[in-house]
Amino acid sequence: MDAHILIVDDDVPVCNAMDKYIQMFNYKTSKAFSAEEAVQVLASSRVQVVITDIMLPGMNGLELTRLIKKKYNIDVIMMTGHSADYSYEEAIDKGASDFVFKPVRFEELMLRLKRVLREQKLAKERDRILRQLQELAITDDLTKLYNSRHFHTQLESEIDRAVRYKRALSLMFMDIDRFKRYNDTYGHLEGDKMLVRFAQIIRSNLRKTDSTYRYGGDEFTIILPETTARDADIAAKRIKTSMETERFLPENGKTERVTISVGIAEYRPREDLTTFVQRADQAMFLSKHKGRNHVTILHPDA
Ligand code: GH3
Ligand code: MG
Repeated sequence: MDAHILIVDDDVPVCNAMDKYIQMFNYKTSKAFSAEEAVQVLASSRVQVVITDIMLPGMNGLELTRLIKKKYNIDVIMMTGHSADYSYEEAIDKGASDFVFKPVRFEELMLRLKRVLREQKLAKERDRILRQLQELAITDDLTKLYNSRHFHTQLESEIDRAVRYKRALSLMFMDIDRFKRYNDTYGHLEGDKMLVRFAQIIRSNLRKTDSTYRYGGDEFTIILPETTARDADIAAKRIKTSMETERFLPENGKTERVTISVGIAEYRPREDLTTFVQRADQAMFLSKHKGRNHVTILHPDA
């Protein structure tokens, strides 16, 4: 979409001439003959750059700029006469991106406007890449679930929340039974496919507020806020059944089934993160010990 430029100048012929000139470069433009009028335009439409005179009746250009920078992510180019009392430093200090002297040479204004727009584009691209990197840093490559690094951060804040609001919080550990055997028989790639499918099955059986992490290898963890061990057990059994009924086809004509072992721990008041994690892990270990294909619950008072 073409950028939208708002021109603010109480000198009507100058404002009109600038408007016409900028339109020649295929930008969408709006005009305001006072800062108050400009505020109205900004409230009702998306503007990328404001070009404003400093001397205006009522609110002046500097105040307008300060207001814009407080409320919006919009660049401002300021215009002032050579003889005026305002300096370049003052304009930049108020948050202006650039400054031109009046009478404005349109070619110069256009160069400055284009530079500001180019920098906006670069900043947007940089933000997008940064967000992507942040996402990558907390995502497991294979399953697209969160990774164990994010698990610890999130668990910490969920514990804080549970303590503050005195809410239940459960933690689940899940591990595929005899995964190594499947891997060794059918190869790593087939093992990978099973991990991906397992991740999908977990996700489709949980609430939006629950979060799932690949803890490592074939082990997954789930944080279930506002959930008692009893309710977590219901969710675990649902996942366990889905996984059991799933048919894996690692080779032509070969059908495999798989089971999982689950451990659940409900948060105990004043328990630290490490102990909480250890209890859920221990519950999972007990399920393996009982011969696998089990769900073991450690209630908070257990
Ligand atoms: P148990 O029932 O006790 O859980 O036995 P298991 O064989 O599932 O457990 P073990 O911990 O012995 O083996 C886990 C296997 O997971 C071993 C490792 O090669 C495999 N593994 C770990 N990460 C990956 C991965 O990213 N892809 C694949 N395909 N395999 C992996
Ligand atoms: Mg395993």
